[in-house]
Amino acid sequence: MPAITFGCKPFKLKSLFGIRARLILLALILVLPLMFDRVRGLEETRTSQIELVGTELSGVAQHAADVQRDIVLKVQAILKSSAYVYATAQDATQGCAILRATARVDLRWIRSLSVIDTDGIVRCSTASHVIGLNLGDRDYFQRALSTSSFVISDYIFSRASNQPTIMAAYPATNLTTGKKVVVIAAIDMNWMSDLLNRTLKRSGMSAVFVDGDRTVLAANSENAAMIGKPLKDTDLLEAVAAREAELSGTSGTMDFTPAGGEKQIVTFASVEGTSGRMIASINEARMLGDIDHSIRAAYGKFALIIVCALIGACVVAERLIVHPISVIIDMAERVGAGDLSSRPLATPLPHEFKPLARAFNRMADQLAERERDLLATNNRLTVMASVDVISGLANRRGFQSRLDFEWMKAVQTGCTMSIIMIDVDRFKLFNDTYGHPEGDACLGKIGEVLSAIAMRTSSFAARYGGEEFCLLLPNVEGKRAFEIGEMVRSEIEMLALPHSMSDFRCVTISAGIASMTPSECAHPETLIEAADAALYAAKHRGRNTVVAHALARTDSTTLSLAS
Ligand code: GH3
Ligand code: MG
Ligand code: MG
Repeated sequence: MPAITFGCKPFKLKSLFGIRARLILLALILVLPLMFDRVRGLEETRTSQIELVGTELSGVAQHAADVQRDIVLKVQAILKSSAYVYATAQDATQGCAILRATARVDLRWIRSLSVIDTDGIVRCSTASHVIGLNLGDRDYFQRALSTSSFVISDYIFSRASNQPTIMAAYPATNLTTGKKVVVIAAIDMNWMSDLLNRTLKRSGMSAVFVDGDRTVLAANSENAAMIGKPLKDTDLLEAVAAREAELSGTSGTMDFTPAGGEKQIVTFASVEGTSGRMIASINEARMLGDIDHSIRAAYGKFALIIVCALIGACVVAERLIVHPISVIIDMAERVGAGDLSSRPLATPLPHEFKPLARAFNRMADQLAERERDLLATNNRLTVMASVDVISGLANRRGFQSRLDFEWMKAVQTGCTMSIIMIDVDRFKLFNDTYGHPEGDACLGKIGEVLSAIAMRTSSFAARYGGEEFCLLLPNVEGKRAFEIGEMVRSEIEMLALPHSMSDFRCVTISAGIASMTPSECAHPETLIEAADAALYAAKHRGRNTVVAHALARTDSTTLSLAS
C-alpha cells in the first residue's frame, strides 16, 4: 500500500478504507437516498412557489382589469338612464333637478355626473364647481355628439379635480324641447390604487395601470409617485404590446429585463373597450431570494441532521465495534508477546464480542499449559543430553557447562580450582581382547568408582570422551587434588578388572592434574590443556600413574611439569 507523507507522519491510504471509513460510507449510503428525496422535494417546492407567484401576479392584473371593465359597464348603464331622465323632463331645469336628485352617492368611483350643452358649457352637474366650465374641445364630447352613442375617453387628469380620471359621455335629446345635450360622468381612478394596495401582499410586487398614451393612472403605494406621470419604461410597454400581439390576446405573462436592471416576471391585462392596461411585475431575484432563503434554511437543517446522524454513527461504531476490536487486538498482542496470563477485561465488551474474548483467554490458558509441558520436556531433554548412558556420568557437554559455571564462581570468590583428566590404559587392547561390549561394561564400572569418589570429595565427575574421564574439583588446591587423583588410580586398580594385555594384568588408569585460581583474563581451556599435558606425562611414565601440572602463575600460559 502506498504511503503519502504529510509533515513527518506517513499517512497510509489503507487507513482511508478502515472500518470507520466503511461505517461512515454505510451511513451515507443509508442517508443519501433520504437526502436526494428531500432535495427533490425542496426543488419542487421552489418550482411550485414560482408558479404560485406567477398565478398570484396574473390574478392581480386580471382582477383589476375585470373590475375596471365592470365599472365602465355600470357607468354606461347610469349614463343611459340619466339621458333618459333628461330626455323625458319638461325642460332643462327640471331635467337637471331630477339628475342631481337621483344621482347615486354610494358609487364612490363616480366623481360627478354633468350635462353639457352643445356649445360645450357645463349647464348642470352633481359637482357645482364644474358648472360653467367649457369642455367643448374635449374629444369625448365631440365624439359623443357626432356618433350619438356611448363614448369613453382616454384616461385623463381631470381639469377640475387634478385626479386620475376617465370620462364617459352619452348624448340625449329632450323630447319636449328637442334640445340636445351630452351627459358625462367623471370616473375616479383612485379606487384602482386602493385595490392594488389591497391585493398586492407579497413584497417585491408592483403594479401600475397605464392608459393609451402611457400615463400612469393608478399604482400600488410603492409606486404612488408615478401616478399622473408618463411611464418611463417605454421598453416595458413595447414588450407588453409585442407579447399581446404574439399571444393574440389581452392578457399574458412574460419575462422582462429592463436595460441595466434585474429580471422581472411581468403579467398584463387590458381593459376591454379601452386603451388602458394593468401591468403587474415582481423582481425575480427578490422573489426567489425569499424562496431560496427558506430553501437554504431547510438545507441547513437537513445538513445538521445528517452531520448529527454521522457523528452518532461514528460514536456508536467506536463503542460497539472499533473499541472491542482494539481490546481483542490488545489481548492477541499480549499473547503474541508471551504474556499468557488470562485476565478479566478492564472494560465491559458488547455481548457479541464476549465469546471471542473468552476464547482468547482459553487459548492463552492452553498455550500457557503447553508452554509449561514444553519447558519440562526441554529440561528433561537437556538433562538427557548432558548424561552419558554407558558410565551414568555427565557427558562432555555437561562437563563443559559445569566447568564454565564453576569457573565464573571461582573468578568471583577468588578460590583455586583443580581438574583431573583420567585415561584408561591400553583400552584398545582391552577391546581387542574382550570385545566391545565388555569394554562398555568396563567403562561403566569405572564410572561407578568415579561417581562414588565425586560424592565423597564434593567434586563433579564426567566422561570426557572415548575412554577418557574427568573430575572437576572446585575449591580444591593442587595437593588435595593430587591425593584425590591417587585415590582414583588405586580404587580402579583395586577393582582388579582382568586385562591380560596390560603390564599390570588388570585395568588401570593414568591421571593428569592441574590447578589454578581463575581470573577475568584467564580461560578454562588453559586448565584443561594443563591437565591434558600432565596426563600425557603420566602415560610416558609407564601408565597407572598420577602426574600433577604446576602452573607458575594463575594467568600464565607458561607451564612447567612436576610430579
Ligand atoms: P593408552 O594407554 O595409550 O591410552 O592406549 P589406549 O589403547 O587406551 O589408547 P588408544 O587411543 O589407542 O585407544 C583407545 C581405545 O578406546 C580405542 C577405542 O576402541 C576405545 N574406545 C573408545 N570409546 C569406547 C567406548 O565407548 N566403548 C568401548 N568399548 N571402547 C571404546
Ligand atoms: Mg585415550
Ligand atoms: Mg587410553
